[in-house]
Amino acid sequence: MKLLQERIREEGLILSDKVLKVDSFLNHQVDTQLALSIGREFAQIFGSKPITKVLTIEASGIQFAMAAGIALNVPFIYAKKKKAVTLPEEVYSAQVHSFTRQETYQISVSRNYISPEDKVLIVDDFLATGAALVGLVDIVKEAGAELVGVGCVIEKSFQEGRGLLEEKGVRVHSLARIASMSPGEIHFIEDEFRVRQHNSQNR
Ligand code: 5GP
Repeated sequence: MKLLQERIREEGLILSDKVLKVDSFLNHQVDTQLALSIGREFAQIFGSKPITKVLTIEASGIQFAMAAGIALNVPFIYAKKKKAVTLPEEVYSAQVHSFTRQETYQISVSRNYISPEDKVLIVDDFLATGAALVGLVDIVKEAGAELVGVGCVIEKSFQEGRGLLEEKGVRVHSLARIASMSPGEIHFIEDEFRVRQHNSQNR
């Protein structure tokens, strides 16, 4: 998604070769029009198959799941990170290890909101190690629902997340795929593709 890549180039803060901050437009202050465009993009990419629910994890996936839900005209659900006050048998749950925070937490979704008849699109802001998304995939499986695919706003393709999801047979589509980055420099996978094409045409 061209517009998204431009915003990342203009406003993204590369804190290290692993951490990108996009707080000014994606996950602290949110550019609402961009979020809606992201939702429409996901709807276009995955919408050829029937989708009944969009699923994400709190907090920073919520605006994109809502935007995709609006575009697809279906509800969205966000998995909760806090221990639910409801009984364990009333929720689907999965353990997620956060490498950024070095902690393991439980995510949960009420059994009332996903059923075996559902066709679920999972959406999140970042695909890094894939731990959070694998947790959501496990929840969809536990519910016996069909997983249509996983849509990520930003993928750090140099981390293992995509590989982990693809190993599970999950269709993954990310709107901006970062091949590599370091402070002051960022390369998207499309750029690399274009450079390779350009080089082979000029040979
Ligand atoms: P995971 O490692 O499970 O794929 O990513 C878990 C979560 O960590 C993501 O949903 C995202 O909220 C956060 N995260 C991972 N990498 C980054 C990053 O480079 N920048 C920001 N802002 N968040 C990240």
